[in-house]
Amino acid sequence: MDFHVNVVQGGEGQNESEYRLVIAGGGPAALSAAIYAARYGISHVVLESWKPGGQAALTAEIENYPGFSRVSGADLTDAMKKQALEAGAVFRMETVETASEKNGRILVKTDSGEYYSDFLIIATGAAPATLGVPGEEEYYGRGVSFCATCDAPFFKNKRVIVVGGGDSAVKEALHLTQVVAELGLVHRRDQLRAEPYLAEKLISNKKVTTYWNSRLLEITGDGQGVTGAVIDTPEGQKNLETDGIFLYVGTKPASEPFETLVELDSQGAVVTRGIVGTSNPAVFAAGDVTNNGFRQVVTAVSDGARASAAVFDLIQHSER
Ligand code: NAP
Repeated sequence: MDFHVNVVQGGEGQNESEYRLVIAGGGPAALSAAIYAARYGISHVVLESWKPGGQAALTAEIENYPGFSRVSGADLTDAMKKQALEAGAVFRMETVETASEKNGRILVKTDSGEYYSDFLIIATGAAPATLGVPGEEEYYGRGVSFCATCDAPFFKNKRVIVVGGGDSAVKEALHLTQVVAELGLVHRRDQLRAEPYLAEKLISNKKVTTYWNSRLLEITGDGQGVTGAVIDTPEGQKNLETDGIFLYVGTKPASEPFETLVELDSQGAVVTRGIVGTSNPAVFAAGDVTNNGFRQVVTAVSDGARASAAVFDLIQHSER
Protein backbone atom coordinates (compact mmCIF):
# COMPACT_ATOMS: atom_id res chain seq x y z
CA MET A 1 0.00 0.00 0.00
CA ASP A 2 1.44 3.42 -0.87
CA PHE A 3 1.72 6.35 1.51
CA HIS A 4 -0.46 8.59 -0.54
CA VAL A 5 -2.80 10.80 1.41
CA ASN A 6 -5.81 11.64 -0.67
CA VAL A 7 -5.79 15.43 -0.74
CA VAL A 8 -9.09 15.54 -2.55
CA GLN A 9 -11.20 16.33 0.48
CA GLY A 10 -14.05 13.99 1.23
CA GLY A 11 -12.46 11.13 -0.64
CA GLU A 12 -13.72 11.98 -4.13
CA GLY A 13 -12.16 9.87 -6.82
CA GLN A 14 -12.07 6.77 -4.62
CA ASN A 15 -14.37 3.83 -4.48
CA GLU A 16 -17.16 5.41 -2.46
CA SER A 17 -17.01 2.75 0.24
CA GLU A 18 -13.20 2.81 0.67
CA TYR A 19 -11.48 5.41 2.78
CA ARG A 20 -8.27 5.89 4.68
CA LEU A 21 -10.31 6.71 7.74
CA VAL A 22 -13.80 6.07 9.03
CA ILE A 23 -14.95 8.24 11.92
CA ALA A 24 -17.85 6.67 13.82
CA GLY A 25 -19.98 9.13 15.77
CA GLY A 26 -21.58 12.54 15.49
CA GLY A 27 -20.85 14.34 18.76
CA PRO A 28 -18.07 16.81 19.62
CA ALA A 29 -15.31 14.15 19.54
CA ALA A 30 -16.31 12.99 16.06
CA LEU A 31 -16.84 16.54 14.78
CA SER A 32 -13.44 17.62 15.99
CA ALA A 33 -11.85 14.50 14.45
CA ALA A 34 -13.66 15.37 11.20
CA ILE A 35 -12.37 18.97 11.18
CA TYR A 36 -8.80 17.77 11.67
CA ALA A 37 -9.06 14.85 9.22
CA ALA A 38 -10.46 17.13 6.52
CA ARG A 39 -7.78 19.75 7.12
CA TYR A 40 -5.06 17.07 7.02
CA GLY A 41 -6.49 15.94 3.67
CA ILE A 42 -7.16 12.40 4.89
CA SER A 43 -9.83 10.71 2.80
CA HIS A 44 -12.55 9.92 5.28
CA VAL A 45 -16.22 9.55 6.00
CA VAL A 46 -18.05 10.41 9.22
CA LEU A 47 -20.83 7.96 10.06
CA GLU A 48 -22.84 10.17 12.36
CA SER A 49 -25.89 8.02 13.08
CA TRP A 50 -29.34 9.57 13.50
CA LYS A 51 -28.36 11.79 16.44
CA PRO A 52 -26.20 14.60 15.02
CA GLY A 53 -24.34 16.41 17.76
CA GLY A 54 -24.56 13.45 20.15
CA GLN A 55 -25.49 13.86 23.80
CA ALA A 56 -23.99 17.37 23.89
CA ALA A 57 -26.60 18.57 21.40
CA LEU A 58 -29.29 17.62 23.92
CA THR A 59 -27.77 19.80 26.65
CA ALA A 60 -29.78 22.97 27.20
CA GLU A 61 -26.88 25.17 28.27
CA ILE A 62 -23.14 24.65 28.31
CA GLU A 63 -21.31 27.15 30.48
CA ASN A 64 -17.82 25.70 30.66
CA TYR A 65 -16.70 25.48 27.03
CA PRO A 66 -13.88 28.02 26.70
CA GLY A 67 -14.83 31.00 24.61
CA PHE A 68 -18.55 30.76 25.36
CA SER A 69 -19.84 31.80 28.75
CA ARG A 70 -23.21 30.31 27.81
CA VAL A 71 -24.20 28.39 24.69
CA SER A 72 -26.82 25.75 23.93
CA GLY A 73 -25.42 22.31 23.17
CA ALA A 74 -27.28 22.28 19.87
CA ASP A 75 -25.83 25.64 18.79
CA LEU A 76 -22.31 24.59 19.76
CA THR A 77 -22.44 21.25 17.91
CA ASP A 78 -24.15 22.88 14.90
CA ALA A 79 -21.26 25.35 14.71
CA MET A 80 -18.75 22.48 14.93
CA LYS A 81 -20.49 20.62 12.12
CA LYS A 82 -20.62 23.73 9.95
CA GLN A 83 -16.90 24.21 10.49
CA ALA A 84 -16.25 20.54 9.60
CA LEU A 85 -18.30 20.83 6.40
CA GLU A 86 -16.46 24.01 5.45
CA ALA A 87 -13.17 22.14 5.94
CA GLY A 88 -14.43 19.45 3.55
CA ALA A 89 -15.64 16.76 5.94
CA VAL A 90 -18.05 14.19 4.53
CA PHE A 91 -20.96 12.95 6.64
CA ARG A 92 -23.37 10.07 6.22
CA MET A 93 -26.37 9.58 8.47
CA GLU A 94 -25.84 5.88 9.06
CA THR A 95 -25.66 3.86 12.25
CA VAL A 96 -22.60 1.65 12.71
CA GLU A 97 -23.69 -1.90 13.53
CA THR A 98 -20.45 -3.87 13.47
CA ALA A 99 -16.75 -3.30 12.88
CA SER A 100 -14.21 -6.04 12.23
CA GLU A 101 -10.91 -6.71 10.49
CA LYS A 102 -10.94 -8.21 7.03
CA ASN A 103 -7.99 -8.74 4.71
CA GLY A 104 -5.84 -6.34 6.75
CA ARG A 105 -8.40 -3.56 6.60
CA ILE A 106 -11.25 -2.48 8.81
CA LEU A 107 -14.74 -3.34 7.66
CA VAL A 108 -17.48 -1.17 9.13
CA LYS A 109 -21.05 -2.26 8.48
CA THR A 110 -23.87 0.21 9.00
CA ASP A 111 -27.63 -0.01 8.77
CA SER A 112 -27.34 0.78 5.08
CA GLY A 113 -23.81 0.21 3.84
CA GLU A 114 -20.30 -1.23 4.19
CA TYR A 115 -17.07 0.72 4.44
CA TYR A 116 -13.47 -0.43 4.20
CA SER A 117 -10.79 1.73 5.78
CA ASP A 118 -7.22 1.60 7.00
CA PHE A 119 -8.04 3.43 10.21
CA LEU A 120 -11.04 3.90 12.45
CA ILE A 121 -11.80 6.54 15.07
CA ILE A 122 -14.46 5.38 17.52
CA ALA A 123 -16.29 8.47 18.77
CA THR A 124 -19.75 7.06 19.33
CA GLY A 125 -20.18 8.57 22.79
CA ALA A 126 -22.48 7.18 25.42
CA ALA A 127 -26.20 6.63 25.81
CA PRO A 128 -28.23 7.28 28.95
CA ALA A 129 -28.22 4.41 31.45
CA THR A 130 -31.53 2.94 32.55
CA LEU A 131 -32.61 1.64 35.97
CA GLY A 132 -34.70 -1.31 34.84
CA VAL A 133 -37.53 -0.49 37.28
CA PRO A 134 -41.16 -1.39 36.53
CA GLY A 135 -42.85 1.23 34.35
CA GLU A 136 -39.60 2.67 32.97
CA GLU A 137 -39.84 0.99 29.58
CA GLU A 138 -43.65 0.99 29.44
CA TYR A 139 -43.89 4.76 29.93
CA TYR A 140 -40.82 5.81 27.97
CA GLY A 141 -42.01 8.71 25.77
CA ARG A 142 -45.23 8.95 27.79
CA GLY A 143 -43.82 10.72 30.84
CA VAL A 144 -40.48 8.95 31.18
CA SER A 145 -37.69 10.90 29.53
CA PHE A 146 -33.91 11.02 29.31
CA CYS A 147 -33.89 14.49 27.75
CA ALA A 148 -35.20 17.53 29.60
CA THR A 149 -33.99 19.82 26.85
CA CYS A 150 -36.22 17.98 24.37
CA ASP A 151 -39.25 17.35 26.57
CA ALA A 152 -39.46 20.23 29.10
CA PRO A 153 -42.24 22.06 27.18
CA PHE A 154 -44.57 19.07 27.73
CA PHE A 155 -44.33 19.64 31.48
CA LYS A 156 -45.23 23.31 31.70
CA ASN A 157 -46.73 24.00 35.15
CA LYS A 158 -46.68 20.28 35.95
CA ARG A 159 -44.86 18.12 38.52
CA VAL A 160 -41.76 16.17 37.60
CA ILE A 161 -39.19 13.99 39.31
CA VAL A 162 -35.52 13.91 38.38
CA VAL A 163 -33.45 10.88 39.41
CA GLY A 164 -29.67 11.21 39.78
CA GLY A 165 -27.10 13.53 41.30
CA GLY A 166 -24.50 14.13 38.59
CA ASP A 167 -23.96 17.10 36.30
CA SER A 168 -26.60 15.87 33.86
CA ALA A 169 -29.30 15.47 36.52
CA VAL A 170 -28.59 18.84 38.08
CA LYS A 171 -28.18 20.82 34.85
CA GLU A 172 -31.29 19.35 33.31
CA ALA A 173 -33.25 19.76 36.55
CA LEU A 174 -32.27 23.44 36.55
CA HIS A 175 -33.56 23.69 33.00
CA LEU A 176 -36.84 22.05 34.05
CA THR A 177 -37.34 24.45 36.96
CA GLN A 178 -37.88 27.21 34.40
CA VAL A 179 -41.13 25.59 33.25
CA VAL A 180 -42.47 23.11 35.79
CA ALA A 181 -44.52 23.85 38.91
CA GLU A 182 -42.72 21.37 41.20
CA LEU A 183 -39.63 19.23 40.90
CA GLY A 184 -38.63 16.32 43.14
CA LEU A 185 -34.98 15.33 43.08
CA VAL A 186 -34.40 11.70 44.04
CA HIS A 187 -30.79 10.82 44.76
CA ARG A 188 -29.34 7.65 46.23
CA ARG A 189 -26.86 9.50 48.47
CA ASP A 190 -27.07 12.69 50.55
CA GLN A 191 -24.52 14.53 48.45
CA LEU A 192 -24.63 15.56 44.82
CA ARG A 193 -21.83 14.61 42.48
CA ALA A 194 -22.50 17.65 40.27
CA GLU A 195 -20.47 20.88 40.22
CA PRO A 196 -21.13 22.60 43.60
CA TYR A 197 -22.12 25.86 41.92
CA LEU A 198 -24.92 24.15 39.99
CA ALA A 199 -25.90 21.90 42.89
CA GLU A 200 -26.41 24.87 45.24
CA LYS A 201 -28.40 26.71 42.59
CA LEU A 202 -30.76 23.76 42.24
CA ILE A 203 -31.21 22.94 45.92
CA SER A 204 -31.99 26.55 46.78
CA ASN A 205 -34.72 26.71 44.13
CA LYS A 206 -38.14 26.97 45.82
CA LYS A 207 -39.75 24.58 43.34
CA VAL A 208 -37.37 21.78 44.34
CA THR A 209 -37.94 19.10 46.98
CA THR A 210 -35.00 16.77 47.64
CA TYR A 211 -35.28 13.10 48.53
CA TRP A 212 -31.84 12.10 49.82
CA ASN A 213 -30.67 8.52 50.31
CA SER A 214 -33.62 7.49 48.21
CA ARG A 215 -34.14 5.19 45.26
CA LEU A 216 -36.78 4.96 42.57
CA LEU A 217 -38.55 1.60 42.89
CA GLU A 218 -41.39 1.90 40.37
CA ILE A 219 -42.98 4.28 37.90
CA THR A 220 -46.74 4.10 37.92
CA GLY A 221 -49.25 5.25 35.34
CA ASP A 222 -52.80 5.04 34.08
CA GLY A 223 -51.96 3.25 30.84
CA GLN A 224 -51.78 6.58 28.98
CA GLY A 225 -48.95 8.24 30.84
CA VAL A 226 -47.04 8.57 34.10
CA THR A 227 -49.03 9.44 37.20
CA GLY A 228 -46.65 8.59 40.02
CA ALA A 229 -43.49 7.12 41.43
CA VAL A 230 -42.75 4.79 44.29
CA ILE A 231 -39.52 5.63 46.05
CA ASP A 232 -37.62 4.04 48.88
CA THR A 233 -36.56 6.63 51.46
CA PRO A 234 -34.91 6.36 54.91
CA GLU A 235 -38.41 6.87 56.37
CA GLY A 236 -39.88 4.04 54.30
CA GLN A 237 -41.61 3.80 50.92
CA LYS A 238 -43.35 6.89 49.54
CA ASN A 239 -45.83 7.22 46.69
CA LEU A 240 -45.26 10.51 44.91
CA GLU A 241 -47.71 11.97 42.43
CA THR A 242 -45.97 13.18 39.30
CA ASP A 243 -46.53 13.83 35.62
CA GLY A 244 -43.03 13.00 34.45
CA ILE A 245 -39.82 11.26 35.43
CA PHE A 246 -36.44 12.29 34.07
CA LEU A 247 -33.68 9.75 34.51
CA TYR A 248 -30.05 10.85 34.71
CA VAL A 249 -28.33 7.90 36.34
CA GLY A 250 -25.16 7.90 34.29
CA THR A 251 -24.29 6.75 30.84
CA LYS A 252 -23.37 3.57 29.01
CA PRO A 253 -20.61 3.75 26.38
CA ALA A 254 -21.94 3.09 22.86
CA SER A 255 -19.23 0.54 22.16
CA GLU A 256 -21.08 -2.66 21.22
CA PRO A 257 -20.23 -2.53 17.49
CA PHE A 258 -16.52 -2.50 18.35
CA GLU A 259 -16.36 -5.21 21.02
CA THR A 260 -14.37 -7.66 18.88
CA LEU A 261 -12.09 -4.98 17.45
CA VAL A 262 -10.76 -3.30 20.60
CA GLU A 263 -10.46 -4.03 24.30
CA LEU A 264 -13.35 -2.77 26.43
CA ASP A 265 -13.39 -2.40 30.21
CA SER A 266 -16.00 -3.92 32.51
CA GLN A 267 -18.26 -0.88 31.97
CA GLY A 268 -18.04 -1.26 28.19
CA ALA A 269 -15.75 1.76 27.70
CA VAL A 270 -12.97 1.51 25.13
CA VAL A 271 -9.69 1.02 26.99
CA THR A 272 -7.29 3.72 25.82
CA ARG A 273 -3.51 3.88 25.76
CA GLY A 274 -1.71 7.18 25.43
CA ILE A 275 -5.04 9.07 25.59
CA VAL A 276 -6.60 8.03 22.24
CA GLY A 277 -4.83 4.79 21.26
CA THR A 278 -6.60 1.43 21.71
CA SER A 279 -5.57 -2.22 21.82
CA ASN A 280 -5.75 -2.17 18.01
CA PRO A 281 -3.04 -0.05 16.34
CA ALA A 282 -5.37 0.96 13.51
CA VAL A 283 -8.13 2.08 15.82
CA PHE A 284 -8.33 5.24 17.94
CA ALA A 285 -11.04 6.30 20.35
CA ALA A 286 -12.23 9.72 21.45
CA GLY A 287 -14.67 11.23 23.93
CA ASP A 288 -17.29 9.60 26.15
CA VAL A 289 -16.95 6.11 24.63
CA THR A 290 -13.48 5.83 26.20
CA ASN A 291 -12.24 5.13 29.71
CA ASN A 292 -9.84 8.08 29.53
CA GLY A 293 -11.58 10.10 32.19
CA PHE A 294 -13.08 13.53 32.22
CA ARG A 295 -16.33 13.51 30.21
CA GLN A 296 -16.59 17.05 28.98
CA VAL A 297 -17.08 18.65 25.57
CA VAL A 298 -13.69 20.28 25.89
CA THR A 299 -11.93 16.94 26.43
CA ALA A 300 -13.97 15.20 23.72
CA VAL A 301 -12.87 17.74 21.11
CA SER A 302 -9.29 17.42 22.31
CA ASP A 303 -9.48 13.62 21.91
CA GLY A 304 -10.94 13.96 18.41
CA ALA A 305 -8.13 16.26 17.31
CA ARG A 306 -5.48 13.96 18.80
CA ALA A 307 -7.01 10.91 17.12
CA SER A 308 -6.96 12.45 13.63
CA ALA A 309 -3.44 13.76 14.22
CA ALA A 310 -2.36 10.23 15.21
CA VAL A 311 -3.87 8.82 12.01
CA PHE A 312 -2.13 11.48 9.93
CA ASP A 313 1.15 10.65 11.61
CA LEU A 314 0.71 6.93 10.90
CA ILE A 315 -0.19 7.56 7.26
CA GLN A 316 2.98 9.58 6.86
CA HIS A 317 5.27 7.17 8.68
CA SER A 318 3.91 3.67 8.16
CA GLU A 319 3.09 1.38 5.30
CA ARG A 320 -0.48 0.94 6.27
P1 NAP B 1 -22.61 10.66 36.35
O1 NAP B 1 -21.69 11.78 36.64
O2 NAP B 1 -22.07 9.27 36.26
O3 NAP B 1 -23.75 10.71 37.45
C1 NAP B 1 -24.72 9.72 37.52
C2 NAP B 1 -25.59 9.95 38.72
O4 NAP B 1 -26.57 8.93 38.78
C3 NAP B 1 -24.80 9.92 40.03
O5 NAP B 1 -25.28 10.90 40.91
C4 NAP B 1 -25.08 8.51 40.56
O6 NAP B 1 -25.12 8.45 41.94
C5 NAP B 1 -26.47 8.25 40.02
N1 NAP B 1 -26.67 6.83 39.76
C6 NAP B 1 -25.90 5.99 39.06
N2 NAP B 1 -26.41 4.76 39.05
C7 NAP B 1 -27.53 4.81 39.78
C8 NAP B 1 -28.49 3.86 40.17
N3 NAP B 1 -28.41 2.58 39.77
N4 NAP B 1 -29.52 4.27 40.93
C9 NAP B 1 -29.62 5.55 41.33
N5 NAP B 1 -28.73 6.51 41.01
C10 NAP B 1 -27.70 6.14 40.24
O7 NAP B 1 -23.41 10.86 34.97
P2 NAP B 1 -23.86 12.21 34.24
O8 NAP B 1 -24.42 13.18 35.20
O9 NAP B 1 -24.69 11.76 33.10
O10 NAP B 1 -22.51 12.78 33.69
C11 NAP B 1 -21.69 11.97 32.83
C12 NAP B 1 -20.39 12.71 32.60
O11 NAP B 1 -20.67 13.85 31.79
C13 NAP B 1 -19.76 13.22 33.89
O12 NAP B 1 -18.37 13.11 33.78
C14 NAP B 1 -20.18 14.67 33.94
O13 NAP B 1 -19.26 15.49 34.64
C15 NAP B 1 -20.24 15.02 32.46
N6 NAP B 1 -21.19 16.10 32.23
C16 NAP B 1 -20.72 17.35 32.30
C17 NAP B 1 -21.57 18.41 32.12
C18 NAP B 1 -21.05 19.80 32.20
O14 NAP B 1 -21.70 20.72 31.77
N7 NAP B 1 -19.87 20.00 32.76
C19 NAP B 1 -22.93 18.19 31.88
C20 NAP B 1 -23.39 16.89 31.84
C21 NAP B 1 -22.50 15.84 32.03
P3 NAP B 1 -23.79 8.62 42.84
O15 NAP B 1 -23.48 10.07 42.82
O16 NAP B 1 -24.20 8.09 44.16
O17 NAP B 1 -22.75 7.76 42.18
